[in-house]
Amino acid sequence: MPFDPSPKVQELQARLNAFMDEHIYPNEKRHVEEAEKLGPWAVLPLIDELKPLAREQGLWNLFLPESEHGAGLTNLEYAPLCEIMGRSLLAPEVFNCSAPDTGNMEVLARYASPEHQERWLKPLLDGEIRSCFAMTEPDVASSDATNIQSSIVRDGDEYVINGHKWYTTNATDPRCKICIFMGKTDPENPNRHRQQSMILVPMDTPGIEVLRSIPVFGFYGMPDRASEVIFRNVRVPAENMLLGEGRGFEIAQGRLGPGRIHHCMREIGRAERALELMCRRALSRVAFGKPIAENGVTMERIAEARILIEQARLLTLNAAHRMDTVGNKVAKAEIAMIKVAVPNMTGKVIDWAIQAHGGGGTSNDFGLAAAYAMSRVLRLADGPDEVHRQQLAKMELRKYQ
Ligand SMILES: Cc1cc2nc3c(=O)[nH]c(=O)nc-3n(C[C@H](O)[C@H](O)[C@H](O)COP(=O)(O)OP(=O)(O)OC[C@H]3O[C@@H](n4cnc5c(N)ncnc54)[C@H](O)[C@@H]3O)c2cc1C
Repeated sequence: MPFDPSPKVQELQARLNAFMDEHIYPNEKRHVEEAEKLGPWAVLPLIDELKPLAREQGLWNLFLPESEHGAGLTNLEYAPLCEIMGRSLLAPEVFNCSAPDTGNMEVLARYASPEHQERWLKPLLDGEIRSCFAMTEPDVASSDATNIQSSIVRDGDEYVINGHKWYTTNATDPRCKICIFMGKTDPENPNRHRQQSMILVPMDTPGIEVLRSIPVFGFYGMPDRASEVIFRNVRVPAENMLLGEGRGFEIAQGRLGPGRIHHCMREIGRAERALELMCRRALSRVAFGKPIAENGVTMERIAEARILIEQARLLTLNAAHRMDTVGNKVAKAEIAMIKVAVPNMTGKVIDWAIQAHGGGGTSNDFGLAAAYAMSRVLRLADGPDEVHRQQLAKMELRKYQ
């Protein structure tokens, strides 16, 4: 097939799979137990145990393209590796490849000053700290980011920041030391896309209050450390502004393309894992005198799942190829397509896998409930399905106008 992995990627695939077999899959039960017991405000000891092992083996920062810090892989090369990591909710952070840190590191690598890179990017790349991205607000429809109301006001050598944010993933993590904050520096600008800016805000700055951890489908911290945060008269040096006032949208576009495709790559791994679990369970479980696998409805779902996964993978690899060859901006249609198609596909496959597991499918014993929650979240996070469809429809209609 045209997207066959190169020998370099095959070698990394083999090493990643070996690490998953030795350290990730056998520890998934412990991961869930630690997350349940310690909660979203704590560092999970298991993650800290496994990170140095991944780093030692060079399975580290694989997401970073063309960089002295990462493996220098293209999007197309990273896709099959990211898919492997997506098979387990424990894996991405262990390999220092988890959202939102990856997107934040890319922003810092592209737009931060050398001093800020030394202070924030280096410890993020080393996996010593974590980061958050604060855009979404409870009081406005944030799927339209021009609505964001938080203010960033220049005062001498500083900016003063005020705002109420939620769904700020990671803010409850004690290692979360830096926030990329989006707000308005020029609310009266007639160009709504020039009103917003992004600025670096150290999380220990006075005036920041992490109000609460927000449960995702009733779970805290798993699969996401969603948080609600207040910023009250938070003062940071003027040099913390990224790229320049009014350029927040430009940065957001650069950040969201890779972030979205990484989510899709991981989702394909999640769907593969769910299909594998479904097949194994259906073969071993006997109801009404025969294995569940022998029911026509189960076979129909297994076949359909395989078709849907292959379709989604090809679409994602094509998007990766387009990003590598024509750039993230020109590939925006392909990115929008996968952002809708892939999480919907994964949600459907996991739903069938849960059904095949009976009541147990809803527990934490098989990893399906959290995987399902993650897939459902991804129909909202980084833009709801409807917004991506709207963009696609506009691009399609433009051809005939
Ligand atoms: C677990 C989780 C983690 C997240 N992490 C982060 C994070 O780290 N940082 C961050 O800033 N945000 C984060 N988000 C927020 C996420 O990006 C927003 O929820 C999303 O952009 C939608 O914004 P909103 O919630 O304000 O929904 P709204 O803007 O209020 O939209 C509500 C609904 O309106 C509908 N709608 C909107 N526009 C259209 C349209 N054009 N056509 C038709 N229907 C439409 C859609 O169905 C949409 O879901 C996270 C969300 C979740 C659930």
